[in-house]
Amino acid sequence: MSDLKYVVVGGGIAGVTCAETLSVLAENATITLLSASPLIKTVTNLIQITPNIESFDVEEQPYKHLKEGQCKVQVIYTTVNSLCAQEKRLHLSDGKTLDYDQLCICTGGKPKLIAVNNPYVLGIRDTESVKEFQKKLKTAQRIVIVGNGGIATELVYELEGCEVIWAIKDTSISHTFVDAGAAEFFVAHLNKAKANSPEELSKRLKYTTNEECEVMTSDKKPVMGSALGPDWAAQLDIRGAQQMSHRVHVEHEVEVERVLSPDDLTLLGLKACSVDQGQDFTNWPVYVQLTNSKIYGCDLIVSATGVEPFTEVFLPGNNIDLAPDGGMKVNSKMETSEPHVYAAGDVCTACWDPSPYWQQMRLWSQARQMGCYAAKCMVAATKGENITLDFCFELFAHVTTFFNFKVILLGKFNAQNLSNDYEVLLRVTKGQEYVKAILHNNRLVGAILIGETDLEETFENLILNGLDLTAFKDNLLEPGIDVDDFFD
Ligand code: FAD
Repeated sequence: MSDLKYVVVGGGIAGVTCAETLSVLAENATITLLSASPLIKTVTNLIQITPNIESFDVEEQPYKHLKEGQCKVQVIYTTVNSLCAQEKRLHLSDGKTLDYDQLCICTGGKPKLIAVNNPYVLGIRDTESVKEFQKKLKTAQRIVIVGNGGIATELVYELEGCEVIWAIKDTSISHTFVDAGAAEFFVAHLNKAKANSPEELSKRLKYTTNEECEVMTSDKKPVMGSALGPDWAAQLDIRGAQQMSHRVHVEHEVEVERVLSPDDLTLLGLKACSVDQGQDFTNWPVYVQLTNSKIYGCDLIVSATGVEPFTEVFLPGNNIDLAPDGGMKVNSKMETSEPHVYAAGDVCTACWDPSPYWQQMRLWSQARQMGCYAAKCMVAATKGENITLDFCFELFAHVTTFFNFKVILLGKFNAQNLSNDYEVLLRVTKGQEYVKAILHNNRLVGAILIGETDLEETFENLILNGLDLTAFKDNLLEPGIDVDDFFD
């Protein structure tokens, strides 16, 4: 296996995990990691909560970190400008080229913005964008947050000292992750003052950037740093100009029609409204018109409407197929449609026939799993070995924190693709826990566990075992009952 050249592009969690795994599996090969960002992401404090659920911290390290550590990866701080897959060659921003035998593309995604080149519209993605956000927020009285996923949810909870208009396109909050019932459970905490435990905060990770390292492509367009990750908002001081904790107003089932300047507003003869729907006479630097015709003035608009895979530099001249969501299609061996080119993390779209309990979501955990598995596939291919899809793709499992509650999502947690053919078991203790089990044909197929429920391992086993629960389901969520006893 000497002289084999593995090249990984991207210093996010997918790329770093891929390079690290290659360094373990492919001993005599040359492994090169190319990162357009001077800071790379490393996983620390990995805790296996159950066989499928893992929590971990993330540290941003200077790109030299991998060089200095145990792992034999050559890290180059550079940007890939283009790919010639036929020649197995990458063209870099400094004019150099790099040849590979096997390539893994892990370039992540970039935020979808509701308006580009508008100084009042900000997308939050990496450490740089968070710093810009913090700076602008310091003088802000009111901001509008657009989007209903994890970023928006974390921001709404963490942000203090500033009025928030939260514009969501769904009927309930945090819709990407939880159903309307769980959203209702959280709503009670929307306007509650935060219990800031300094002890808890100090345990969380720190993100730093090195001011000297400006990230530019050869044509001087900035390239994104790695996406942020778990708990990114919790350890930041995100505070507006007002002396208050939370004041959140939610506008349901709306999108942004247009972003208006004060001049636009005057020219068009339009009027802004306040949250109590009276007229707002404040002079704001920017206004948002929603699809329900309401116009809100604010100091800043945060566009948290998801990311689109960052594929463009690799496409010209190559046959890389894209999925409808813009990701590079990968098969069950993480191969793109170009031979010897693999992809992992946010940049790719899983196009294999998935397990009934798994779906792709662009998350830390999946970036790590895909990066690791892609490395295994690359090595297996060079050895001519067969490889079967990793166990981690059997069950979707995600752990996160929303509104200071532990949230665990398992399998088809939102009854994805089940139409109406499912049964729901529910246990709610106000302010304490929310347990929702999704049953299909009397078998557990998904669950939402909010709070300290201690049910994750049992539920994970029940989903994977496909046990018929007809005889137990009436008691499954009964408080005080140890579910494990049923199955002893
Ligand atoms: P990225 O982390 O985006 O890394 C891409 C890398 O590629 C970067 O280093 C970039 O510099 C490099 N790159 C790009 N183009 C080039 C090029 N042409 N040449 C060389 N290098 C290049 N997930 C969770 O699970 N839990 C959360 O709580 C959570 N919160 C989030 C909060 C925010 C604000 C954001 C933006 C995302 C969050 N996510 C969360 C999602 C998670 O961060 C991503 O799914 C994950 O980081 C994707 O990792 P990745 O390695 O695929 O891509």
